Amino acid sequence: MLVFARQSQRVPAIIAFIGSRGESKTAACFQTGDSEQLAGSENVTANAFWTILLHMPLMSKKKQPFIIDEDLGPALKPYLPADSRTTVECGVRKGTPDYPFILDLCQRKEAMLVTADIEFPKHIKRYQREHNECCWGLMLLPGDEAKQVDVLRRLKEGKIKLKHPNDPNFRFDYARHDNLFVNLRADPPQVTDLCDCEWEDQK
Ligand SMILES: [Zn+2]
Repeated sequence: MLVFARQSQRVPAIIAFIGSRGESKTAACFQTGDSEQLAGSENVTANAFWTILLHMPLMSKKKQPFIIDEDLGPALKPYLPADSRTTVECGVRKGTPDYPFILDLCQRKEAMLVTADIEFPKHIKRYQREHNECCWGLMLLPGDEAKQVDVLRRLKEGKIKLKHPNDPNFRFDYARHDNLFVNLRADPPQVTDLCDCEWEDQK
């Protein structure tokens, strides 16, 4: 089932909840995006929950928060999902240390980070270890702005086909949800998992 591709702490929590209660307002454990309102309702049934769960990847496709690292130029914006914002637009001061603050921001916004800083894969691994949380993916761009625009343009036009090592049905839309490292600096671009969590091991 697609939803389990998101190796997040919340999934086992919900399963435990459905198993033990069937229906309840304790659905508050489910704190993600559009479902937040539903989760607050006392009338949420187990069935409704499964509906939400099954549709999560679809919802995240509509809303794709991406956060653009401060070193990157505004020229990239037209090639990124419409919801993309710079760190500064998210209220973070210029020069804020990458670790842990930029990742804290991405966690709060459940956003994929777009950066040209090659240190971030390491930062994310560390963040996940230290916070015992799964992040929301990472897109690493080449260092040069002309190359950044070029690779994003080709990605948007569908000229770059990203492949997930284990998922033949992978689409770029899932990268944030599935916490993937989309390495557009590599040639050809590569997609790998960032998750190192126990949910990942259970697959
Ligand atoms: Zn994980």
